Amino acid sequence: MTDFDDPYLDAGIDTLAVRAGQTRSAEGEHSEPIFTTSSYVFESAAAAAARFTGEDPGNVYSRYTNPTVRMFQDRIAALEGGEAAVATASGMAAILSTCMALLEAGDHVVCSRSVFGTTTAMFNRYFKKFGVDITFVTATDLGEWEAALTEKTRILFLETPSNPLCDVIDLKALSAIAKRNDSLLVVDNCFCTPALQKPLELGADIVVHSATKYLDGQGRCVGGVVVGPKKYMDELVVFLRTAGPTMSPFNAWVFLKGLETLRLRMDAHSANALAMAEWLDAQPEIDKVYYAGLKDHPGHELAAQQQRGFGGVLSFQVKGDQAAAWRFIDATKIMSLTANLGDAKSTIVHPATTTHGRLSDEEKAQAGITENLIRVSVGLEDVKDLIKDLQRGIAAL
Ligand SMILES: *Cc1c(COP(=O)(O)O)cnc(C)c1O
Repeated sequence: MTDFDDPYLDAGIDTLAVRAGQTRSAEGEHSEPIFTTSSYVFESAAAAAARFTGEDPGNVYSRYTNPTVRMFQDRIAALEGGEAAVATASGMAAILSTCMALLEAGDHVVCSRSVFGTTTAMFNRYFKKFGVDITFVTATDLGEWEAALTEKTRILFLETPSNPLCDVIDLKALSAIAKRNDSLLVVDNCFCTPALQKPLELGADIVVHSATKYLDGQGRCVGGVVVGPKKYMDELVVFLRTAGPTMSPFNAWVFLKGLETLRLRMDAHSANALAMAEWLDAQPEIDKVYYAGLKDHPGHELAAQQQRGFGGVLSFQVKGDQAAAWRFIDATKIMSLTANLGDAKSTIVHPATTTHGRLSDEEKAQAGITENLIRVSVGLEDVKDLIKDLQRGIAAL
């Protein structure tokens, strides 16, 4: 087969983002339809029986399959370069489903210390309860990952770049470590999306997403997705059929539409974030800026190799204490004060008292979450207006 026969073979990311996965019904609709149906009718009793045995792979019930959800799955699988994808009700459901499908009691997981707080809580509160052992490691320290591995280690789990300090982890090196131990490398690719980073090409086994963030890109719906080899995705499908954390067709449609502009948006988020990071870096009232696009960031070189852009999230420490950080945040007038990220609207948040507020003082210190740290998810507004908003913050210090 050549790219003359199959126009999507070796197609560029923008083509896949707009076109991959779409199937048309007999109505000939141009845009992807939303199939709001919980179940499907069969042409005969024999056809129903064949569906139920799996002999005929067609639709039975929307907890199992739905055409709109399938289009979203096929599109994101094409973008990540994976064999198959499974959509879930949320990003947390994506991580939960991966672990439920692939782990059993007695298994061991090694997880980066700088992952989404609820991910840490899920491993600690629930997986430990069912006999899965967890070790947390400093994400950038490959020696620590290697030392944590046991013969029971089934999964290595991380995000890169990390939230909120933008630590960058060497995916090629970590995948080599995982393979030597017969373990699976699972990467939460929420911050970069396949527009900026393709972990499967760098050796990861499975990618998980909170679609709630950049895949939607406009803060409308909660959802998640897992991408990887068909043999693992088949196991996830069985978990979803049985346990039920499926994506709704309406949300799948919003994410499908979000994907169509993904690369354009991620490049614009990255350009705005770099301009803001460079501006903040030059201000005497700002202590330190964390953004891998800055040349003096420890992860800069690595990010330049394994990412196509540096992404839309940055953080910085103001000179002063928590009260100063709060004054900065309260003085801004454009950026939304919300913990969400990956939105066309810029958001600003104080991690130590919100997203990372449940961590103990010691855990905060380990994760670098200081009281004067502020995180911004840079949106798509005009960057000169966003910089003026930062000036309002600085004037309030
Ligand atoms: C938001 C987020 C999640 C959880 O996703 P939900 O859709 O909110 O369940 C997981 N990982 C990362 C990196 C996130 O930012």
